[in-house]
Amino acid sequence: MMTTATSVLAHRAARAVRAHRAADPDGFRHRHDSPQAWDRWTRRARVARTVATALHVPVEHVLVTDDPHRTYPARTGEVPGDLITVTDPAGRREWRFIPDDTTPGQAWLLLDTCPHCAAEVPVAPVATLADLGDHLDPDPHTPPARELPDPTGHRPDCAHSRAGN
Ligand SMILES: [Zn+2]
Repeated sequence: MMTTATSVLAHRAARAVRAHRAADPDGFRHRHDSPQAWDRWTRRARVARTVATALHVPVEHVLVTDDPHRTYPARTGEVPGDLITVTDPAGRREWRFIPDDTTPGQAWLLLDTCPHCAAEVPVAPVATLADLGDHLDPDPHTPPARELPDPTGHRPDCAHSRAGN
């Protein structure tokens, strides 16, 4: 019935706005400040839909916010990158991804803890749920996914950091 459907949508909308206000208060409050801000907001909405589809999770479990550690060059100067946070629908675990610049909009890099320095760094390219599964449960008979040499994010004394390369 119409009233039931409307209240379900309103309930989900209220939950969505609470999640955004909590996770990204500045980004959410200022999304209408300029055409660029609104463009970024709508682009990130599309990123969230794409990631949700790729990983078979409800879109409200995907949040795209400013990456506090990575910026990208744009016409208007350096802009914060996208940090994609997927909350596991079954639990409290969060998975974080950043864009894979070699395949924009089609794959992302899973962030996880570096075993050497404990910093959160890219560990695996993920385009599908199977890529995530392969990372979590690697096939011992096939070589690992391509190297992810990006040295940013490691602590300076880590062997994988820029200084160590
Ligand atoms: Zn490291």
